[in-house]
Amino acid sequence: MGQLTLRTRDGVRYFLDRKLKEEGFLVVFTTRLGGISQGSYATLNLSFKVGDEEERVIRNRSKLFDILNLPLQQLTCAEQVHGDRVFLVTKELAGRGAFSQESSISGTDAMITRETNLPLAMFYADCLPVILISSSQRIVAIVHAGWKGTYAEVSAKTLRQMRRQVRDNLEDLAVYFGPSIRGCCYQVDGELFGQFRKKFPLHSRSCFLERGSSYFLDLEQINRESLKIQGVEKTRMASLGYCTACHNDLYFSFRKSRRETGRQAGVVCIL
Ligand SMILES: [Zn+2]
Repeated sequence: MGQLTLRTRDGVRYFLDRKLKEEGFLVVFTTRLGGISQGSYATLNLSFKVGDEEERVIRNRSKLFDILNLPLQQLTCAEQVHGDRVFLVTKELAGRGAFSQESSISGTDAMITRETNLPLAMFYADCLPVILISSSQRIVAIVHAGWKGTYAEVSAKTLRQMRRQVRDNLEDLAVYFGPSIRGCCYQVDGELFGQFRKKFPLHSRSCFLERGSSYFLDLEQINRESLKIQGVEKTRMASLGYCTACHNDLYFSFRKSRRETGRQAGVVCIL
């Protein structure tokens, strides 16, 4: 694994691991910049689900996929229901959700594939994107983890399903965390905060922050420590580090916008 670096092509700004691309795997996290959507969806909204005009979303997706040199007709998306179901995407399912929300894989928040040229994408505004890759085993996964998915340990479940797929041979696993709302901004009520602390007693204090009588969660840190407990080493996890609410100029943030907004994407593909 290498490093996520910012690239700008035709106005589209996104983060990419160049070294990994040379090894035949694409990991990308988009920003909100470079698309044609208007208003609260300005500009690179990539989700059909949020009330933006469908045609604009398709044009945004086309532009991004042209830049990345990926086949849009093969793009596979999930419904994203804040659950913990992990789905293995096989060749026959390629293209589900590429051009409409209705055709996306229903009831799913994590997808795994071993297929080449089958890009998987999920869409986010504050929830945490997690991408997992084993280059030796040629298996990749993408996860959507908001507080519900994080509480249900969807990223650890995805890792366990990947291990099952490759008979436990995942030594070179690399994990990438995209932009999400962090402990600086993600305020929750005391009850939810207490539930999290109870659920994850071994997690460090950096996951659950108290400031005065206010409570905050750091979704990335919680997922990071859950994966660490599953045996993933610290050196095999890379993070963009951005808080979506702090960087609302660069990212869509549901909390920050206080209304419907667009969604950036995480994309993973075996080339
Ligand atoms: Zn913040």
